[in-house]
Amino acid sequence: MTSTISGADGVMGTKESARLLGEDPVAWRRELHRHPEPGFGEFRTACLIHDFLQERGFHVRIAEEAMSRSAIHYLDEARVAESAGRAVLSGVDERLVERMKAGGTAVVADIGPVSGPVVAFRFDMDGLPIEESESAEHLPFVEGFGSQYSGLMHACGHDGHVAMGLGLAAELARAKDGLNAGVRLIFQPAEEGTMGGAEAIVARGLVDDVRYMICCHLGLGLPTGAIVCRSNFLATSKYRVDFHGIEAHVTNDPQSGRSALLAAAAAALGLHGIAPHSEGWFSLNVGTLRAGEAVGITPARATAEFGFWAETSRVHDYLEGRAREVIVGSAKTWGVDVEQRLIGRAPASLQSETLAAIVAECASRTSGVTEVRESAAVKGGEDGNVFLKNVANRGGHGVYIGIGSDLKGNHHTANFDIDERSLRIGVGVLCDTCLQLQQTLGESLKQ
Ligand SMILES: [Zn+2]
Repeated sequence: MTSTISGADGVMGTKESARLLGEDPVAWRRELHRHPEPGFGEFRTACLIHDFLQERGFHVRIAEEAMSRSAIHYLDEARVAESAGRAVLSGVDERLVERMKAGGTAVVADIGPVSGPVVAFRFDMDGLPIEESESAEHLPFVEGFGSQYSGLMHACGHDGHVAMGLGLAAELARAKDGLNAGVRLIFQPAEEGTMGGAEAIVARGLVDDVRYMICCHLGLGLPTGAIVCRSNFLATSKYRVDFHGIEAHVTNDPQSGRSALLAAAAAALGLHGIAPHSEGWFSLNVGTLRAGEAVGITPARATAEFGFWAETSRVHDYLEGRAREVIVGSAKTWGVDVEQRLIGRAPASLQSETLAAIVAECASRTSGVTEVRESAAVKGGEDGNVFLKNVANRGGHGVYIGIGSDLKGNHHTANFDIDERSLRIGVGVLCDTCLQLQQTLGESLKQ
């Protein structure tokens, strides 16, 4: 399948292609949906965002100016390199791609007054390693905007998030001269897996001056027209565990062998046997386990990945401690060495009731909004919480807004699809809230 913008990727160049899309969030969402990119490999997406914002007078930071790579928990080098190659072939500015290969794919853009408190919005950009459905029921396939990249799909709505971010940017560019406080749009890489995309931006100091911070997500089980002012995501951590045993011939010299496979299997069962906690719900999952070379050899290598999601920090920390004991204990029992490495993390939700009340008031006046809920629990982790926690720790206010969208297929499945009507509603809510916060800040600055 070829790009419907230019007839073929690269023929026209993405700058021209992007201009043709104008400011329509639906057109943008479809363009991004065609080109999903993996976490930390959002080169094409970031280049399009960079060009769009620069053309509208934003001060745009990318790569090392927008994030600190040393704060990343985990990055899949091979996937990222492959994605960079694909981006260049699709016609984006090669110099930008080179800079992002070294410094990362975050884009952070400011508009309005350059000093004083800032209102910030965060949008995530990454897709998922899922093969998109080609069913006659799946609109992106039927309408010709399905993923062009095999094994990758925007299956969580982050294409819609970026489209809403650009919609908000377009409105802000028009309102630029009347802004009382600076507005910062943060386009974050690698939300999926909470691999450290948020930490990398925070580590650059880009939320130090943020007074109000808004994260948002489409869907989350809410119908189109519904808005949740505070979505409470779970605290989460993900680990990779490598067990190192000793190879041996299983009949000539079995007593010399130490099985990494058995240690890993024992650890997997032990982890799933961790007792519940009376203070809150949690879910733990050993998601992968790879081990062994051949049937006649004691397996000397095994690797497992597991994660846990908990309602509170205390339950999260309890799990982290117990998991370590189970893993070290299993390794000891089977006589193998073990290495445990953090690959993902996000804290529990820390949100502001004050800001939630402002969002509720604005959303109730926004066109297309039919229902406003104060808060809702979401059974998932989210590194938006990293931003909210950092802003709250500095005395600022943050919320995570849920933007309802009638979904076809659940999040993270091949048939996932949003209701595109929710994009304009989302832009409306974000815009109205931003303008209200401008007034609030303007009044406080006058005092
Ligand atoms: Zn998501």
